[in-house]
Amino acid sequence: MNLKIISLVYALLSLHKASSFPLNKRSCEKTYNVIKGDTCYNIWKKYGLTETEFKNLNLGVNCNNLQIGTSLCVSSSSASSPSSSSCKTFYTVKKGDYCYKIWNAHGLSESTFRSLNPHVNCENLQIDTQVCVKTSSTSTTKKATATATSTSNSSSCSTHYTVVKNDTCYNIWTKYNLSESTFRSFNSNVNCENLQIGTQVCVKASTPTTTTTTTTTTKKATTTTTTTTTTSSCSKHYTVVKNDTCYNIWTKYNLSESTFRSFNPNVNCENLQIGTQVCVKASTPTNASTPTTATTTTTTTTKKVESSVTSNASPTFTWLRECQTENNYALSFDDGIYLYDEDLLDLLKRKGVKVTFFINGNNVSSIKTESVRNTIKRAYQEGHNILSHTWSHKDLTTCSSDTIRSELKLLEDEIYAIIGQRPKSIRPPYMAGINDSRVINTLQSYGYSYGILWKIDSRDWENKGDINTILHTFKTGLATSHRPIILNHSFYEGITKEKLLTLVEKEIDYLSSMGLTGVNMETCIGHKVYRNSGEGF
Ligand SMILES: [Zn+2]
Repeated sequence: MNLKIISLVYALLSLHKASSFPLNKRSCEKTYNVIKGDTCYNIWKKYGLTETEFKNLNLGVNCNNLQIGTSLCVSSSSASSPSSSSCKTFYTVKKGDYCYKIWNAHGLSESTFRSLNPHVNCENLQIDTQVCVKTSSTSTTKKATATATSTSNSSSCSTHYTVVKNDTCYNIWTKYNLSESTFRSFNSNVNCENLQIGTQVCVKASTPTTTTTTTTTTKKATTTTTTTTTTSSCSKHYTVVKNDTCYNIWTKYNLSESTFRSFNPNVNCENLQIGTQVCVKASTPTNASTPTTATTTTTTTTKKVESSVTSNASPTFTWLRECQTENNYALSFDDGIYLYDEDLLDLLKRKGVKVTFFINGNNVSSIKTESVRNTIKRAYQEGHNILSHTWSHKDLTTCSSDTIRSELKLLEDEIYAIIGQRPKSIRPPYMAGINDSRVINTLQSYGYSYGILWKIDSRDWENKGDINTILHTFKTGLATSHRPIILNHSFYEGITKEKLLTLVEKEIDYLSSMGLTGVNMETCIGHKVYRNSGEGF
């Protein structure tokens, strides 16, 4: 291995770390340094930004783990006009992701990905981080050249190790008593995700020396052009007031959800701003299909995927992470029904809290089991929602459309036989498919309208019964939203009745102390979560 290259790469990495900042810092008019007790939510509210604006200004910031001292952009010179740096497509990091996988999946080179996401730490990629995978427009691409000079301490290698079959970086750094970061600093150009037999890796440094490197890096700057979208001309507007939700507005004006959305394709119902003008009546009363052309800029986030807007009220598919109404929360439990859900129902009854179960038909337990069926029936009767987590917990992106169909239908038929309802809401296992238009279109074609994600992941499965750690994660997450959907599990490896009940009780008590109310998903999202009779398969 060429040690000069290692030094150079390390120097670059150090430089990158020291200067890591949001992509568009260049156009940032005002920055704010995070202090103790800050949350993203507080910051964007304070500066009058929407969540989307804030995230666009601060790509890669992990709001679930906001670090004191982080410099955030809170005002951009380009806030009201097309920005050179607005991200067109975000991708939300999910379990099992790593940068390599993400840039490959989106057809990006590593350098493009990194230039889009200078703030993202690929070595410690946090679930739920939003990363940019596409900018607004690449019609004009300018190259800017920056020269950077840095001085960095780097180490020469005194001991090498040759990778053999079945080695992993983890095994190697553990074997040589190195921390991961030390190992990586010795081996910056080793790809741990695809470690090749025969590679020489460094496992011991010689006396540190100081090297000075001067290098030139090239970054891509992209400019935005406006996009053209088709919308209906509006004859009546309504101005959003405090406590309004899209649901309230379309109900008030006797509109269907899809009609409302077709009138207001750019309105973000998840974060409806007071003062927003929404359209509640089209200019052509007989039919809303007179399209006019309006020039607007659109910002797409992966949080919500809307189908193309058409005049014949075609169904939409929407991903949701939060309740429509402030101060409601929705606890949800995946992967059941399992052994302790009866005890959980007792606890929920005592606490007066409604929740949602995203169940499988055949995973850790079988829905054909009498006790499982009884628990489902009881949960439904007690006001909880029973929704789909697929028949056998498959990654839907790996399934053919036929397999997706059977994953939905098998479970629906069994749920229908028990509670007389068919879910039209789903939480896809592993969050897989949230950026996959084939999966989304397939779900939609089978009548599914809502994909229910979450704002807070308790990470109960990872911290198995370590209540303090789980609650810390939970409280940090809660700081970003006062209407969160929350992910828990009915089953994970090592779960016990005590672990489940202790966690849920503490969560509920904490949420109550914040003045929040636990509701089922239907109340939370303000939409029907089951099909009308006659709909569906
Ligand atoms: Zn699951």
